[in-house]
Amino acid sequence: MSVKDYIRTIPDFPAPGIMFRDVTTLFGDPRGFRMAVDQLLLPWAGVRIDKVAGLEARGFILGGAVAHQLSAGFVPMRKKGKLPGRTVEQAYKLEYGTAVLEAHDDAIRPGEKVLLVDDLLATGGTAEAGLKLIERLGGVAVGCAFVIDLPELGGRRLLETAGHQVHALCA
Ligand code: IMP
Repeated sequence: MSVKDYIRTIPDFPAPGIMFRDVTTLFGDPRGFRMAVDQLLLPWAGVRIDKVAGLEARGFILGGAVAHQLSAGFVPMRKKGKLPGRTVEQAYKLEYGTAVLEAHDDAIRPGEKVLLVDDLLATGGTAEAGLKLIERLGGVAVGCAFVIDLPELGGRRLLETAGHQVHALCA
């Protein structure tokens, strides 16, 4: 079994015509979950990583496990209004309208090396906002890791053009 075999597609969620990739079945399988976490780390074997930044919400589940595996800290990047302390915010585009991602302003120290983790890369807008937050906080983005890349939506191209290393386990 590969990571992809544990992921199911739910048609018409959250709106008609959308084929939603559901990773809860991957998270729910002991072998699948371990396989995914182990594989997310592969390109950075032997590289110092101080913190893992996870994108709300499925990036918290993966990112927490990745951070534990690396003995790194974890930084939650949340939708606006959820974090209790002082934050920096980064707006990004959605299919319809815009959204704002936030991180605590003291979550990353200058020069810390940070890996961004999320479940799925589509247009790349969410990850791009997360990478900008890492850099605005003084961190060094070592790259980003996703379980799924939907290449036809252009996210990989967007992030690689901006100079970021992109790792995905399946398409
Ligand atoms: P992007 O900003 O267009 O790259 O969208 C990526 C974000 O949308 C990620 O945070 C994903 O969790 C979420 N997302 C979009 N489509 C799906 C899907 O089919 N399954 C799970 N998450 C999705």
